[in-house]
Amino acid sequence: MSNGQIHTNGTSANGAGEERQVEEVIVIGSGPAGFTAGLYTARANLRPLLITGNEYGGQVSITYDVENYPGFPESVSGPGLVEKMKEQAEKFGTRIEFDYVTEIVTDQHPFLVRTTNGKEYATKAIILATGARPRYLEIPGEKEYTGKGVSYCGTCDGFFFRGKDVIVVGGGDSAVEEGLFLTKFATRVRIVHRRDELRASKILQDRAFANEKIDFIWNTVVSEVVGDSEGKVTGVKTKNTVTGEEGSLETDGVFIFVGHIPNNQILQGKFHLDDDGHLVTDRYTRTNIPGIFAGGEIMDKVFKQVATSVGQGCAAAMQTTRWLEDFEADGHIDLAQDPRDFGVHGIVTHETLGTW
Ligand code: NAP
Repeated sequence: MSNGQIHTNGTSANGAGEERQVEEVIVIGSGPAGFTAGLYTARANLRPLLITGNEYGGQVSITYDVENYPGFPESVSGPGLVEKMKEQAEKFGTRIEFDYVTEIVTDQHPFLVRTTNGKEYATKAIILATGARPRYLEIPGEKEYTGKGVSYCGTCDGFFFRGKDVIVVGGGDSAVEEGLFLTKFATRVRIVHRRDELRASKILQDRAFANEKIDFIWNTVVSEVVGDSEGKVTGVKTKNTVTGEEGSLETDGVFIFVGHIPNNQILQGKFHLDDDGHLVTDRYTRTNIPGIFAGGEIMDKVFKQVATSVGQGCAAAMQTTRWLEDFEADGHIDLAQDPRDFGVHGIVTHETLGTW
């Protein structure tokens, strides 16, 4: 499909035949990838519009302490880092809208971006940085007791468990890191893991094993959350994954950290997603639609670090800038063509590049 709807003054006609502003680029998402994409496209004079989504700051905003983001040897608080990133992106001209994107229209150009607040934007390019959200266990009682003892965020809810007993479900970095954080409040933290070894990094494992407040319950899954007549959690039912033996644990709180799911609700049916629902991009952050790029946990199922999300947001912004230069030069876009089959502006590529 060829465009031709954008006028030289940066406007296009909407359905009612009225002229409207066409954005150069809209960034969707306000985590480290989104704010970095905002910063870089702003510094390229593209006046990006960044639409935050419902989870402002993304997952780092619910992280108490970030110890592994370079440049902060003393560590930095997650919300503090988000504010700095926002400030820096705004300083160079990123416009920030606190809104949630409900639909992207990708079969016409300029693309359309529609939001919960009833806005409709036209844009030449899009950077998807919608991130990921916590995975649920999907067991009886989980939904019912969420906010009444079941939580997915130690940083947010740990304070309510001062002097209480909690269990943490999971064996990855999140479970162990949050388990360690919860020892600041709880009298005892039991980490319930379905295998007999952790997936978490060695440094976190060592800290957890050395922490007197932390116990491990191995080869065990939580099969139900139970509570009292006042609607508060009193314990969980468990099952041993080796023997099949069923049991129960009394506790005041259940913190669940069993992985994350990419936020792809607005991408389904239009974008190439893998079996886990991550957006498939090439190493140049290109999606299957020309002019739409991506960075952060929506497209990264491997690294999922603040540092890698920042890098991917930066790469997506640089590619967007180059793509817009090419688009302005020849004014043509073929929405039926998968851009990942072709070379990249300024970079010689001889082969079709693999996905991340
Ligand atoms: P993760 O690494 O995918 O770990 C999920 C854990 O939950 C695994 O131990 C898994 O068990 C367990 N699990 C999954 N489904 C389960 C179920 N239905 N019932 C019981 N247990 C279940 O997820 P994550 O810990 O959220 O970390 C995600 C990514 O973020 C990782 O790449 C991690 O390195 C990164 N991260 C880094 C830091 C840091 O660097 N400080 C902090 C947080 C997260 P199995 O082990 O048996 O599969």
